[in-house]
Amino acid sequence: MKTGLNHLFIPGPTNVPDRVRMAMNVPMQDMRAPDFGELTLPLFAGLKKIYRTKSAEVFMLPGSGTGAWEAAITNTLNEGDTVLMSRFGQFSHLWVDMAERLGLNVQCVDVAWGEGVPVEKYAEILKADTDGKIKGVFATHNETATGVTSDIAGVRAALDSAGHDAMLYVDAVSSLGSIDFRMDDWGVDLAVSGSQKGLMLPAGLGILAASQKAIAASKTCTTKRCYFDFADMMNLNSGGYFPYTPPTQLFHGMRESLAMIEEEGLDNVLARHTRLAEGVRRAVEAWEGCSLCAVNPKWYSDTVSAIVVPETIDARDVISMGYSRYNTSFGSGLTKLAGKVFRIGHLGSLNEVMCIAAIGSAEMALADAGARIELGSGVAAAQAWYRDAAAQPIKMAAE
Ligand SMILES: *Cc1c(COP(=O)(O)O)cnc(C)c1O
Repeated sequence: MKTGLNHLFIPGPTNVPDRVRMAMNVPMQDMRAPDFGELTLPLFAGLKKIYRTKSAEVFMLPGSGTGAWEAAITNTLNEGDTVLMSRFGQFSHLWVDMAERLGLNVQCVDVAWGEGVPVEKYAEILKADTDGKIKGVFATHNETATGVTSDIAGVRAALDSAGHDAMLYVDAVSSLGSIDFRMDDWGVDLAVSGSQKGLMLPAGLGILAASQKAIAASKTCTTKRCYFDFADMMNLNSGGYFPYTPPTQLFHGMRESLAMIEEEGLDNVLARHTRLAEGVRRAVEAWEGCSLCAVNPKWYSDTVSAIVVPETIDARDVISMGYSRYNTSFGSGLTKLAGKVFRIGHLGSLNEVMCIAAIGSAEMALADAGARIELGSGVAAAQAWYRDAAAQPIKMAAE
């Protein structure tokens, strides 16, 4: 019998705060009512703040992050177009796979899993592309499979230094609202996200921001599309409406989650993710024989840590022990990393003590799976860090 809380430490879906859950408990409503925009229009405005964009269009597409990937591609790229992508984990892999299946000519740079977007290589390739064959440059901001965050400003700089005109496509599914993301400053043209990660909502919405350049491209793009067509969406979104029945419950939830982010202050939300992540990293460092999959601190992700277990044990056992004995869900090692890695998702509605619980649970599960780690070593390392961090004053947005 499981009592108490299930401890959800996967990198999405994340914990939905009670405030958000309760906000969604409302009767069905008329999505063509004259006042429907009062619910939806502020959401577009709120999302723009999180994307840090003034000029982009934001779409809320029924679906998930993967649907928003597809919307980004089919609205702006034609079959046979050449795109530059890189692959260093399961999510960047799936994006390449989608681009190929949609008929793009993918120039893919394969990178070791544990590293990120190869900015220098991108710069070289873009410089060499003097006749502008490359129409899109793709970058996975936070590779959730390996816990690696890439340098999107660096990708923008690579484009600029080559004087290259390609559009910049960023997967921000597991970074938006949790890791610094700057749509306008970084000149991002299409930025994909979803509802169930940093935005602390149930799954069900693909979120997409498109620059004016991307919107202009969608007007001449001839790729067949219908459900996710930008023009249909924009036509109705401007009044707060949708071309088909939208998930109003999620909108009520989003109104609350955006309010929570606003109250805490986006900068504070980002700083909290860094603080919580650092505690997890210190715990991993304290665990003998364990290490992060991310090979360099510049790539450490503040939303998910992929933890390489000692070779003598199977990470799948850690995950199953965590779930069956301690009521804790950890993320699994995906494809290549199966058995080698388990992941602690630390994004969304979380605090220090919740992370301590995850670390303590992981220690028990690691020991049960046969790892010779010292119980309490990671917890102690994280406690020391969180105590130090708590002693620093935190500036609240409301102050
Ligand atoms: C979760 C995730 C996706 C897929 O999103 P879905 O909402 O599951 O379709 C894509 N990219 C990254 C980086 C993710 O973390």
